[in-house]
Amino acid sequence: MPKRSAYPLIFTDLDGTLLDHNSYSAKPADLLIEQIIEQSIGYVIPITSKTRAELRSLQASIPISETISVTENGSVIHVPDGCIFEGAKGPHSSIAGIEYTQILDQIGKLPHNLQKYITGFADMTADAVSKATGLPLDQALLAKERQATEPFLWRGSDTELNQLKMIMTAANIRIQRGGRFYHFTGQAAKQQAMARIRSAFAKQQPDQDIIAIALGDGPNDLEMIEAADFGVIMPNPEGVSIETTQPHVRIAPSPGPQGWVIAIRDIFAELGLILPKS
Ligand SMILES: [Mg+2]
Repeated sequence: MPKRSAYPLIFTDLDGTLLDHNSYSAKPADLLIEQIIEQSIGYVIPITSKTRAELRSLQASIPISETISVTENGSVIHVPDGCIFEGAKGPHSSIAGIEYTQILDQIGKLPHNLQKYITGFADMTADAVSKATGLPLDQALLAKERQATEPFLWRGSDTELNQLKMIMTAANIRIQRGGRFYHFTGQAAKQQAMARIRSAFAKQQPDQDIIAIALGDGPNDLEMIEAADFGVIMPNPEGVSIETTQPHVRIAPSPGPQGWVIAIRDIFAELGLILPKS
């Protein structure tokens, strides 16, 4: 029997991973992605905490407009035009967590003594989001276009936060801590979206070995990185670097898109896949 060929799916975080922390450039990874797509030797899936609207605004700088993408930390999977995913033809979005309107409904139903400590993106103007996050105003507007998660500032105590958690858990909503913001999310995470996409590919391409490669630099990437066949931690010179005890996880030799290219070239070589020289 001929050896099955490997078909890598590259699940990549954006900020600080595929995109340079400061310049937001994807060079030189953009060229490698174009080559992978053109030669159909793999598939690149952006998987980000950004909204769909923010991701769309990046598509001029990264060649990913025609690929499946995952936004809001694993909560929404977007399937491009013509692509078959889990039997349904794109374009469509599939909510893995909970609809945004349901999250807002639940916040609206909270007792006033908890609700008064919450300031969510829905309560804030784009200008206020821009000031609180450091995003430019045009990006803050796009960050407000949410589908399945709500970032919020919390002014209550830890005891009150635990009360809030209990009430929201009963409504199937989790609270995750980011940097300054907390996030209401459904039961969704990056690694779950990765597993779902991977199994859809495995069903559709049964004669190939579907290999999951995951790259990221943040705590919200770690479980995905550890669950992948090839996990890559990107060094983060400007923030907290994540750590793992998993021996199969590697650390990219340099941060951002330069390190991304080296890590992907190494993994493709280990899989016996030939990438063109850049
Ligand atoms: Mg990141």
